[in-house]
Amino acid sequence: MSEPMSVTVLTGAGISTDSGIPDFRGPQGVWTKDPAAQELYTIDNYLADPGVRRRAWIGRREHAAWDACPNGGHAALVELERAGLLRALLTQNIDELHQRAGSSPEKVIELHGTLFHVVCMSCGLRTPMREVLDRVDAGEEDPPCPECGGIQKADTISFGQALKPVVIHAALEAARSCDLFLAVGTSLTVHPAAGLCGEAIDAGARLVVMNAQPTPYDEFAHEVVREPIGEALPALVKELVHAAG
Ligand SMILES: [Zn+2]
Repeated sequence: MSEPMSVTVLTGAGISTDSGIPDFRGPQGVWTKDPAAQELYTIDNYLADPGVRRRAWIGRREHAAWDACPNGGHAALVELERAGLLRALLTQNIDELHQRAGSSPEKVIELHGTLFHVVCMSCGLRTPMREVLDRVDAGEEDPPCPECGGIQKADTISFGQALKPVVIHAALEAARSCDLFLAVGTSLTVHPAAGLCGEAIDAGARLVVMNAQPTPYDEFAHEVVREPIGEALPALVKELVHAAG
């Protein structure tokens, strides 16, 4: 019997749309339909403009992730882990649906952070989002840090903000040390996340791209899957688990 296969998975917004969370860059995406909205989310605008921060807190309170449930795509990746085939689960999503589906937190690398924590931009204090939203509900429009009075923000990567080096390092390691790199529901246009595909290929891995729209990495892929993720991903995982049998 051959060595068990090791799979690194990268997920984007497309895996969460079945859970009711809108994507941003697809044909019906928030930013595709309203490119100006993207400008609101730069780190410079956020820090400079209290009005942007007020709107951002309202957006966080009303984010679809609060009421969303994991779907069959998330569940399939839990199966992949249980079968011992998952090297790491890299995600561009901030919705924590992988963890809520049952993926081990230590396997999940959140490239763009999480909506469920808040970080102080001055002292780095990290607190649960729910606590800060309770202050918003109580009438504070832009709740300052309880320790230092600094500006607070969701612990996510905004436009103009670099990814955390420790996170990039872990993601690169996972991309370079797998047999199969599976990109699911991501347009593969946002770097450095998209570049992980190239890193995996250069290290000798096969690439499978599963996305409704074409991506810049399709031509390098061993296989391109256009079918809906909710069906195609469980089928692919079943195949992989069977092959590892
Ligand atoms: Zn602070």
